[in-house]
Amino acid sequence: MAYEKVWANNEKLNKNEINKLKKDGLSIFDDIPKYAKEGFASIPKDQYMYFKYAGLTVQKPQDKGLFMLRVKVPTGIMNNNQAVVLSEIGNAFGRGFLDLTTRQAIQYHWVPLEKLPEVFDRLHAVGLTTSEAEGDAPRNIVGNPLAGIDADELFDTRPVVKDLFDFFQDNPDYSNLPRKYKISVNTNIYNAGHAQINDLAFIPATKVIDGQLVKGFHVLVGGGLAAKPYLARQLNVFVRPQEVVKIAAAVTNLYRDYGYRKSRARARLKYLIADWGIETFEKKVLEQTGPFETTGHDEFKGWNAGFFYGVHPQKQKGFSYVGVSVPVGRIAANDFYAFAQLAKTYGSGELRTANSQNLIIPNIPDNQVESLLANVIFKRFPIRPSHFIGYAVACTGNEFCNLALTNTKDRMREIAEFLDREIDIDVPVRIHMVGCTNSCAQRQIAEIGLQGLKLRTKDKKLIDAYELFVGGTLEGEGKFNERLKGRIPNDLLPDVLKDFLIYFRDNKELGESFYAF
Ligand code: SF4
Repeated sequence: MAYEKVWANNEKLNKNEINKLKKDGLSIFDDIPKYAKEGFASIPKDQYMYFKYAGLTVQKPQDKGLFMLRVKVPTGIMNNNQAVVLSEIGNAFGRGFLDLTTRQAIQYHWVPLEKLPEVFDRLHAVGLTTSEAEGDAPRNIVGNPLAGIDADELFDTRPVVKDLFDFFQDNPDYSNLPRKYKISVNTNIYNAGHAQINDLAFIPATKVIDGQLVKGFHVLVGGGLAAKPYLARQLNVFVRPQEVVKIAAAVTNLYRDYGYRKSRARARLKYLIADWGIETFEKKVLEQTGPFETTGHDEFKGWNAGFFYGVHPQKQKGFSYVGVSVPVGRIAANDFYAFAQLAKTYGSGELRTANSQNLIIPNIPDNQVESLLANVIFKRFPIRPSHFIGYAVACTGNEFCNLALTNTKDRMREIAEFLDREIDIDVPVRIHMVGCTNSCAQRQIAEIGLQGLKLRTKDKKLIDAYELFVGGTLEGEGKFNERLKGRIPNDLLPDVLKDFLIYFRDNKELGESFYAF
């Protein structure tokens, strides 16, 4: 397709766009074996951007030949072979640990270039991929980590996620979008898929059609975070599960063909929809698909922020799932392996990841739960964590991320543990820390958001500091948190938060949450 026709909105393409026209991002997989043999110095710098399509980012310092590597785990569900291989890769190539991301994916650091072909082989052998885990393409599909076992789901979304994954994954029609593209599919009535912050989200809905109650989805479009966050808007359609791919393709076609490619800062779908208006966007979707049923009844009952701690009955009688806290989503590969072994011994072998960066062990017979929980690993990874560390979320930060202005994972953990020691409180407080405006740890939806920056002091020193945001939620239509005036130097941050949270505790009603305060 000639880009003049396809990229209808643009007079001038940005540098990335011009490079993407010279070469399809997915072709980097053909080049990696050669680079792996010839060494990092053989990679021209202008090729770095294509590695994103293989789920890879050149890690800083950029001359060491090490990569951050992300593996897709659609809707956070992995079987036992996959979980074991993921732990083995962490030990063999990721210096012994892995991170659980806010999109239910798995992320490694320090992966050496020469080992990438072997990593890909090991992942492919168990049906996993890194392809399009980054890059201007459909990213990991998020959703309900309890799909298929959830007493609070309208229906099992695993087949829909598979249909979407099969349609979009490595599809050359969608490997050159204007920017990253995020899809959520969820029918948990507590919005486990964080619908409103995705480019395209399918949420639980019902409608009486011809006298029959039909279960399906409503559709949200144009959500996203980063420097200018938008909550997704609803299309006036009701979609049956078998119609999801059709409407997803139509939405994505519009984004591909009309999304902005001049400025990367304005390239997400949210900007196109903001400019066109939701009615025009919807009209252009329906021009492609033909008519749909109009909206029915929204089945959301609230928002659980992606937390599933504790032991809960599944919809399968006699079975439970167990939600486990993984502080700020970082876990040793050996511990991950231990959980995979426990899942195999006591459950079906599956492990699941939540977008709160935590783990779920499903399918435990009720009479086995006590034996499972007697394992010593639950002392370090509790199922009922404290109210700060259990609800702290952090992005990668300056240890590995090229864009980070401050540390996040270690700092968030230290601060949350400090708050747990200092403050006895009756409700959890969700604190998210990010190292820049990109907001990979979803700062905007936190009750307390902390965003790292550099601050110049009076004596001209450059120090780490954080801005503080309050009151984010995806309850109801959702509301992003708001920035408080001022910047807090890194060394003062724990005490400022302590004072702030003690004031909250001492002035709130029993059971009142921070965002409702
Ligand atoms: Fe890096 Fe910024 Fe994303 Fe954190 S939010 S991982 S610092 S890009």
